[in-house]
Amino acid sequence: MIPISRPSLPPYSKVAKHWKHIYESGMLTNHKYVEQLEKAVAAYIGVKECVAVANCTSGLILSFKALGIRGKVVVPAFTFMATAHALLWNNIEPVFADSNDDTMTVDTEDVERLCKKGVSAIMAVYTFGNPPDLAALEDIAQRSGIPLILDAAHALGGSYRGKKAGSFGKVEVFSLSPTKTLVSGEGGIIATDDKDLAYRLRRLRDYGNDGNYDCEWLGLNARMSEFHAALALEGLKILDENIKQRIKKASRYKECLADVPWLKFQKVREDCLCTYKDFAVIAETSNLNGKKSLRDNLAEHLQFKGIQVKKYFCPAVHKLKIYDRMAPSRARKLSKTEHLSRSVLCLPLHPNLADTEIVCIADAIRKAPSP
Ligand SMILES: *Cc1c(COP(=O)(O)O)cnc(C)c1O
Repeated sequence: MIPISRPSLPPYSKVAKHWKHIYESGMLTNHKYVEQLEKAVAAYIGVKECVAVANCTSGLILSFKALGIRGKVVVPAFTFMATAHALLWNNIEPVFADSNDDTMTVDTEDVERLCKKGVSAIMAVYTFGNPPDLAALEDIAQRSGIPLILDAAHALGGSYRGKKAGSFGKVEVFSLSPTKTLVSGEGGIIATDDKDLAYRLRRLRDYGNDGNYDCEWLGLNARMSEFHAALALEGLKILDENIKQRIKKASRYKECLADVPWLKFQKVREDCLCTYKDFAVIAETSNLNGKKSLRDNLAEHLQFKGIQVKKYFCPAVHKLKIYDRMAPSRARKLSKTEHLSRSVLCLPLHPNLADTEIVCIADAIRKAPSP
């Protein structure tokens, strides 16, 4: 079986040294590794503040809470469920935007249209590590007088016009779970240039307690443990090399699959560095006639051959039961999102994927029977 992903981990011996130290010191949380990780990631990105949290989902929930955002927020529907969940946990109504069918990132013209309808913020996503059109989004946010928040779960190590992911909008939130580019086991990092916001986030991840116990804000326990921080701190040292390898493997896939006419690749803008958290292909579904789609057929064929693949994101978020029953999401037709949701397939990709495996996967794709 070729797995779709493998965690990018630093050498065990290096991590074990830290873990032994943490174990023996008895300081398992709220201590120096979390602080070191926050400083190291802030320096890596080039932002004033990073706040480590238990995972990206709680980081997003707390970011909206700390910014006091209410009402409605524009968010792409072609994303993972956690992106929109962060809004519902704050009683914010998601207003789903369509995505471009080539870059798979949010359609900024649609965002612009929706911003004229009284929304309080824009949330965008680095889809599979591909940066959205950040210049356009920052411009729309500024003209509308609302903040831009980025679900950067897939994006650590990527960049847009030479600037690292993490330095855009009001706040960006990364995930450090095992399939993402930097791994802590479970974890998240919130990046911002706003010191006051970082202060509030540090209180909010700690039940909302500001230190004197008489707490004023509703928080969570969303702290990262010292063990998790130590793993990520070592992982950060190999992050750039891992991204380089991911990009190399993605180019190799494109070479090997260049002659398959019904297959398209995710478009990455020239001035962007996509992390390739996943390698997403589009299996075109032009003449369906009620038959099983080319993508579904391909997925079945590859799984049968022992190649693990994922139909991300299917159904798209606005079609998930929890969102589909909300009247406002029913009212909009997101045709490009629905097309993506029917035709995107993620193939195995991780820094240690062997060239022979890529060749073998490409071969299996070429031999897939048409539906
Ligand atoms: C993984 C993921 C999340 C959630 O990250 P956790 O750290 O597991 O909470 C959020 N958004 C996107 C786009 C993701 O892929």
